[in-house]
Amino acid sequence: MRPPSTKPQNIKIKSELPLLALRGAVVFPRIAAPLFILDKASLKAVDAAMKGDRLVVCTTVNKEKSGPLTPADFYKVGVVAKIRDMVRQPDGKVRVLIEGIDRAKITGFVKADGYIRVKLAKFSKPKFEKNEKIEAQMYNLVSQFKECVNMGATVPFDVLLIVMNITDPWQLCDIITLNLEFKTAEKQAILEAESIEQKLDRAAISITRLIKVLRMSKKIQTETGKELGKMEREMFLREQLKTIQKELGMLDGKSDEDDMSEKIKKAKMSKGAEKQALKELARLEGMPSFSPEIAYIRTYLEWLSGLPWSIKTASKLNIKQAEKILNEDHYGLLKVKERILEYLAVQKLVGKIKGPILCFAGPPGTGKTSIGKSIARSLGRKFVRMSLGGVRDEAEIRGHRRTYVGALPGRIIQGINTAGTKNPVFMLDEIDKLSHDAMRGDPSSALLEALDPEQNNEFADHYLEVPFDLSDVMFITTANLLDTVPPALRDRMEVIEFPGYTEDEKFHIATGYLFPKQLKNHGLTEKNLGFDESGLREIIRSYTREAGVRNLERQIASVCRKIAKTVAENGVKNTVVKGEDAQKYLGPRKFTSTLKEETDEVGVATGLAWTEAGGEILLIEATRMIGKGKLILTGHLGKVMQESAQAAFSYARTKAGDYKTTMDFGKNDFHIHVPAGAIPKDGPSAGVAMASVLASLLVGKPLRKDVGMTGEITLHGKVMEIGGVKEKVLAAHRAGLKTIILPKNNEKDLVDIPEKIKKSIRFIFASTIDDVLKVALKK
Ligand code: ADP
Repeated sequence: MRPPSTKPQNIKIKSELPLLALRGAVVFPRIAAPLFILDKASLKAVDAAMKGDRLVVCTTVNKEKSGPLTPADFYKVGVVAKIRDMVRQPDGKVRVLIEGIDRAKITGFVKADGYIRVKLAKFSKPKFEKNEKIEAQMYNLVSQFKECVNMGATVPFDVLLIVMNITDPWQLCDIITLNLEFKTAEKQAILEAESIEQKLDRAAISITRLIKVLRMSKKIQTETGKELGKMEREMFLREQLKTIQKELGMLDGKSDEDDMSEKIKKAKMSKGAEKQALKELARLEGMPSFSPEIAYIRTYLEWLSGLPWSIKTASKLNIKQAEKILNEDHYGLLKVKERILEYLAVQKLVGKIKGPILCFAGPPGTGKTSIGKSIARSLGRKFVRMSLGGVRDEAEIRGHRRTYVGALPGRIIQGINTAGTKNPVFMLDEIDKLSHDAMRGDPSSALLEALDPEQNNEFADHYLEVPFDLSDVMFITTANLLDTVPPALRDRMEVIEFPGYTEDEKFHIATGYLFPKQLKNHGLTEKNLGFDESGLREIIRSYTREAGVRNLERQIASVCRKIAKTVAENGVKNTVVKGEDAQKYLGPRKFTSTLKEETDEVGVATGLAWTEAGGEILLIEATRMIGKGKLILTGHLGKVMQESAQAAFSYARTKAGDYKTTMDFGKNDFHIHVPAGAIPKDGPSAGVAMASVLASLLVGKPLRKDVGMTGEITLHGKVMEIGGVKEKVLAAHRAGLKTIILPKNNEKDLVDIPEKIKKSIRFIFASTIDDVLKVALKK
């Protein structure tokens, strides 16, 4: 294209001219453009024009069509143009240079000798005044044009200069349109515009669309460019690595694939797995080195060949030895140890792990993990641990299929990989925190398949695609509470309970195990630091309130840290921590008042609860106000607990007469609250306590706070059996209660309670609420 001529052209346009058909191009007035003449009719038209005044009408064909053109195939607005130059090329094509003169409307077609002549009507550009809006539109158009150029639209430099300097908006639109890749229909529409406003609008629409296209194409380019760049870099580095390794004599000319094939051989996989691995390796070798799949296949092969298909630690199973190790590492836990030794003995006789999976159930810090480690030690096996807390996707247990981006094996196979042997002791923690999401498959059924000794010799991980034999793994699961463990899983497990420790047991664990361990951890010896009995007991009583010993261990560590600091600063010093020193090292006491010291109140009962953290004391409160006989319940109570409150309420209402009260149920509302309000609670065992607080309100007498109570109640006031007796009794003991009311049917559970505690607490076994109130209600 050429810059537009600035002189107005005073050529008189005849009313009939030869037609030059354009395909995919539009010519504009006052702009020169080179054209190729392709069809015979147009060639003849050019010849005819060349014989005369060299004028033609350039009109664009409005559809794609082969064969002779008819009048319907043309847009009805064209441009009268002068042929400035004509060159016949050696290949027979004709190139002409034409210069647009003015727009014209085609009003009729006349057949001539082998070409078309058309009748014309004048259609010059309208007159217009430039105003601010037009200026603004011009400004926008120019800046969008520049943006196009920046994004890679190819435009000759002189055109760029013209566009930036032009003052005529009409011509600006024409030049931009001619030089950018607008669609033919868009170009034609801009040519045909009736007014400057219309022309500017149409140009703006087209250029905005073009910018979108350019942006998108740029984005695609940079993305593929990045991908390619990364791959090329990787390839290059690999090659370099190979050369370096060769230079250093590390590789003796072997390729990555040779290496991999060796790894596969060494892994001694199962037959099926090896076949699969070799197949994938062959696929890898046949791939061009820039294929993005290479990385995926390599990772897969690394996983396959890295698994301990046939690596086992020689398992020694000597029951005497095992007993010794369990005792060495743990104080007490007699029942637990006994159960474990029985389990191991059966295994020794059978020769293989068969039968139920062990499940250690109990509050945190009661030694579950640490017993697991001891079992591994006594068997001479590796120990791995994997938490199932929050797992709700089957794929987390069983892996993602390889087609999934970023796929990896599931947690079971990952654990085996970490262990590096196929017969570790594998602890699956928090099996009670496994959740279930219907959308993502059921993780517990995948888990069952992994744990079940009958079928886990062919455990199918989605990522591996080939089965892995888990039958040598000794699985142990742990849970805080068994209620939430899916029933199908629970059925397959043999539960061993870790109920929590008494103060005495804690004291022995602290002296014999926790303290020596922490001394060592802090680089101290017994010369630097010691505890006397009062010191440890003070920490147990006033700085911890827990079923296990986790906090206790933390507090001891805390003292060790402080001593280590003074030892490091001032040299060896023999410190013995006594009860009265605890505050010096650990700050103010965390748990002070015991319940028995608090005053008794009307409508407050001491309930005993059983939570994940072991047993706990719950103060249950009730109050009444003027109302209409409603029951209000607060404190984040679960459904079962709410129903149990309803039962207690109904019982109290039916029995109101017996209590010689003048209170009218219909004219009062009752409110039961169980602190702490933010912690969710559930279960039926607070029924007795809730009935008692209501009764206490009715008769206006306080309940004794030093009497702990637990039990489910029926609508008729019978007291029913509950669970977690040992935990609850231990919690009551920690809180210093002197009397505990238990359901009559729980009397049998007292065998689990240490003698010392049994002696310090008075147990009352109740069959009805009246039995409870006789003891708990103050006279
Ligand atoms: P859990 O797995 O039940 O939460 P841990 O096994 O982590 O508890 O125990 C917490 C800490 O208490 C560990 O350092 C453990 O060695 C110690 N511990 C727990 N019970 C005993 C015990 N009976 N004898 C010795 N140490 C114990």
